[in-house]
Amino acid sequence: MDFELTDTQKSVQAVFKKFVDEKVKPIASEIDRKKEFPHDLFLEVGKLGFFGMRYPEEAGGTGMDIVSYCLAVMELARGSMSLAAACSMQSLMATYFLYRFGDEEVVENYFRKALTGEKIGAICMTEPDAGSDLNNIKTMTKVKDDCFILNGQKTWITQAPHADFFSVLSRTDNHEKHSFFLVPAHYKGVHVGKNIDKLGVCASITSEVAFDEVKLPKNYLLGEIGGGTKGLLEILAEIRIMTAALAIGVAEAAFQDAIEYAKTRVQFGQPIGKFQAIRIKAADMAVQLETAKHMLFYAAWLSDQDKPRQKEAAIVKLYASECANSICDEASRIMASYGYAMEYPMQRYWRDARFTLFGGGTNEILKINIARELGL
Ligand SMILES: Cc1cc2nc3c(=O)[nH]c(=O)nc-3n(C[C@H](O)[C@H](O)[C@H](O)COP(=O)(O)OP(=O)(O)OC[C@H]3O[C@@H](n4cnc5c(N)ncnc54)[C@H](O)[C@@H]3O)c2cc1C
Repeated sequence: MDFELTDTQKSVQAVFKKFVDEKVKPIASEIDRKKEFPHDLFLEVGKLGFFGMRYPEEAGGTGMDIVSYCLAVMELARGSMSLAAACSMQSLMATYFLYRFGDEEVVENYFRKALTGEKIGAICMTEPDAGSDLNNIKTMTKVKDDCFILNGQKTWITQAPHADFFSVLSRTDNHEKHSFFLVPAHYKGVHVGKNIDKLGVCASITSEVAFDEVKLPKNYLLGEIGGGTKGLLEILAEIRIMTAALAIGVAEAAFQDAIEYAKTRVQFGQPIGKFQAIRIKAADMAVQLETAKHMLFYAAWLSDQDKPRQKEAAIVKLYASECANSICDEASRIMASYGYAMEYPMQRYWRDARFTLFGGGTNEILKINIARELGL
């Protein structure tokens, strides 16, 4: 067993830490308050190679391992969950099906441009009547001799107003299983609806998208007809590991702020960190955070070794997201009224952490998955 990060992993961590401390932290509260997507920062993340970290060099990526990817995600989420969520979406779910199944035209015009951030992608799976139950989607694509015609309604789509293309999960009229299609945002019949006003991740814009008789060329089917669920399963573990990294990043930010506050806030003649009640809270938070990190690196390591990791990925996503919410709550209590003030970022961490409870699959669904992995 080797718990030491490699030189490359350390250097990825250092690069993203510096970027977050210098560029992200100073504006994170402002973009959250204005509910404004930080497009310039997004492009800078692209310049750091983040969007291509999980794709091989021959495809235009940097071919990094998932441990390195998690280190970068954790740092981004420590600075701004909104930026981290938008960037993670671009680096994984929005682009994976283009990389895996796209022909030359799709790869050149969309995938490679998404690796730099020149084009923005979004993943469209959730519908008004189908969240966890994706088998029940209504979006339907008619298969014609020379094209596809797609109709449907999606909701909760991250990056929708800024997206240049969508990877859309749809039924087809000739197969019981679902398929992914590439839908360019400028095509006739694509309508981005109203933005959803959210509690957290406010600078990552989330909207409804409607598809009305959208005509697609044959090469915009990503994979086989009916191959959508199989394709999704290929990256499901990675989506969950990435979501755990988001949770740990925001928990780290809340934890650091609370410890700093406990050292400097004086009541009854001494720093509040000297009171046993606060010390126990800090110790409990540290135990949760360290445990979640070790579980994260174990699941990421399994993934890098190409070993079975579905159960570990579900466990770490579940544990890290629950811990993140508990840590943000306790950290906010340590700051008491100041944790409640909009002037300080603590309330943002608390709001943003909630997203990780259902992003990447709700924790109730994950418990069902874990029980299934146990043979129940
Ligand atoms: C900020 C944000 C960004 C998002 N971005 C995207 C995106 O880019 N693309 C996209 O496609 N979607 C996106 N989503 C949607 C997200 O993936 C779904 O919200 C999520 O899958 C849960 O679906 P739901 O909210 O409809 O809940 P539901 O599935 O309706 O669940 C409601 C409750 O019932 C429970 N439940 C459901 N089924 C079961 C069961 N079988 N057993 C036990 N309990 C059950 C759930 O755990 C939950 O507690 C986003 C959501 C948010 C909040």
